[in-house]
Parts: sequence; structure tokens; C-alpha cells
Amino acid sequence: MAKEYDVIVIGAGPGGMTAALYASRANLKVALLDRGVYGGNMNNTAEIENYPGFTSIMGPELSEKMFQGATQFGAEFVYGTVEDVEVKEDGTKLVKTDSGDLSAPVVIIATGSVSRKLGVPGEEEYSGRGVSYCAVCDGAFYKGREVVVIGGGDSAVEEGMYLANLTSKVKVVHRRDQLRAQKILQERAFKNDKIDFTWDTVVEEILGDGQKVTGVKVLNKKTGETSVIDASGVFIYVGSTPMTEPFQNLGITDEHGWIVTNDKMETKVSGIYAIGDVRQKQLRQITTAVGDGGIAGQEAFNYIESHK
Ligand code: NAP
Repeated sequence: MAKEYDVIVIGAGPGGMTAALYASRANLKVALLDRGVYGGNMNNTAEIENYPGFTSIMGPELSEKMFQGATQFGAEFVYGTVEDVEVKEDGTKLVKTDSGDLSAPVVIIATGSVSRKLGVPGEEEYSGRGVSYCAVCDGAFYKGREVVVIGGGDSAVEEGMYLANLTSKVKVVHRRDQLRAQKILQERAFKNDKIDFTWDTVVEEILGDGQKVTGVKVLNKKTGETSVIDASGVFIYVGSTPMTEPFQNLGITDEHGWIVTNDKMETKVSGIYAIGDVRQKQLRQITTAVGDGGIAGQEAFNYIESHK
């Protein structure tokens, strides 16, 4: 027998936690489901400076505060990996997980996105042995050593600056001659003398000695020259991929896998909403995820009221 709720929120990042807060505060019975620790990608972020109310806060601390808020009105945290979502004839959604089934008239998908892989030789082989996607998790292993950061977006620059506090040198390798990151981050990074930039350059291979990373082989796209950059660690920040695999059968994603919604966070399946980074959207931030979550939590209430 599936355990019954009014609302099942899948994913306990900032969007999911806000949806759970709004829905439970409206007196709905809410399951906040996640396969791991709550907080989502906030847990991999060192300092957050663009969340209102805090001049600066560590990601895990903000996760903890949001979780306290999300569960204060009775939302129940449930562990489990979602395998499938089925829509029954009467509109009930059956969420199948590896730890049992849940059912509800409303499902809010807040599964976010995961780091994209670079897809070069050596990446998989040295993953966890010098290749990392999380500076907060692994940066401390490289104290006083040289590391390479790949990418030119907010994550590459922000996490590059975090690594500059720990390591002796951060060598950012970017495929163009301009960063995509916000200007304020760029300016800070350019001023940091522990950070070097290598422009117009792609990584062709991650090199190692069989045990650990020793550097990267790179190609300068303008000159056609290849060279080796020595490093003990390689941090990859080349964007993200939506976590939408269990929802493929619902037909709610675009050609790249992001979930399409309207401004009420409704997908094209009645009673199924999507919020936060997993949505097709312009700006993927904690603030925008939280906004989406508030809307979906309120819409869940409206949906249930109108289907009574
Ligand atoms: P992103 O903005 O998509 O940037 C990815 C970077 O990787 C780009 O510079 C891109 O190059 C490069 N790249 C992509 N594929 C590559 C490949 N195959 N080889 C080499 N380089 C490649 O991703 P992100 O930095 O992870 O950020 C994701 C989202 O989170 C963004 O919306 C961002 O604004 C947000 N975010 C915000 C903050 C903040 O506000 N403080 C912090 C972190 C993240 P091109 O520039 O040439 O495309």
C-alpha cells in the first residue's frame, strides 16, 4: 500500500524546502522526499552572498536553517530514490521509490541538476583521485598544492576563489577569451594573484601516474598548440544537467531534459509542478528556486481545494 499524502515534494533543495513550507503551512499533509541529505547543491557551496537577509552565509548553514523552516509545520522528511511517477485514472500520482510507494494528488518536482562531465580521457579514471566537481568537499586535500579549474561560469570563478584560499595556485582554463561569470566575481578573481587564467583553451585529457592526477593536456584553439599544465587536482565546473530521468515517461521535458512549466509552475500534467534548477529557466539561483517553491506550494493548495 502506498503511503498517502496531499503533496509529495521530490527533492529537498531550496525550492523543495520552500514548497514544503508553504504547503504544510496551508495545513496540507506533505512528504519532502530526497535520496540524500537535504540542502541540495547548497551543501556544495562555500559562501553564499546573494541570498537576502544574510550578507554572507555558508551553504550547509543555510540548508540547516531552511530545513528547520520547512518542517516546522509538519512536513515529513522521507528518504528514498524515485524510480517512477505514475498518474492514475482518478488523477492520483503514485511515486515509486526504492524504499516504498507514496501517493498524492499533487507532486512537486524539485530534483535540481548535477554537474556536467567534461567527457575527456582520464576524467572517469581519476574521479575521486584528483578529479573533483566540488571544491567545498575536496578542496582541503589540495592545501598548498596547485590545481586546475575548468570552466568560465559563476561556479568555476566562485569555487576557484574558494580554492585560492587553500591552494598555492589556481589555474583556470576556459574555452573562450571571456568569462560567463557575473562581473563582480570576475573583478575579484582578476585581482587575486593566486588565480591565473588560460584563455581559448580546451582540456583534451586529464593526466595521471596511474594513482593520482598529475596535470591536464590542453589545446589552445587559436594557435593549435598543445601543452601540459601541471596540477595535483582538477576541478570541473562546465555546467549542469537536469535530474529528470524518473520523469521521462511524463513527457514534460524539453529536448535537453529541463522541465517546462508556466508561471504557476504547472507542467502539462495536471497536478504535477516543477520548481528550481530542474525547470527550463533563465536564472538558476537559490533566490529563484525559493520563489518557484512558494508559488508551487500555494498552487498545490489551490489545486486540492478545486478538486474537492
Ligand atoms: P554555466 O553558467 O552553464 O557555465 C558553464 C561554463 O563551462 C561556461 O563558461 C562554459 O563555457 C563552460 N563549458 C561548458 N561546457 C564546456 C566544455 N565541454 N568544455 C569546456 N568548457 C565548457 O554553469 P555554472 O557556472 O555551473 O552555473 C550554473 C548556474 O548556477 C548558472 O545559472 C549560474 O549563474 C548559477 N550559479 C550562480 C552562483 C551565484 O549567483 N553566486 C554561483 C554558482 C552558480 P562558455 O562560457 O564558453 O559557454
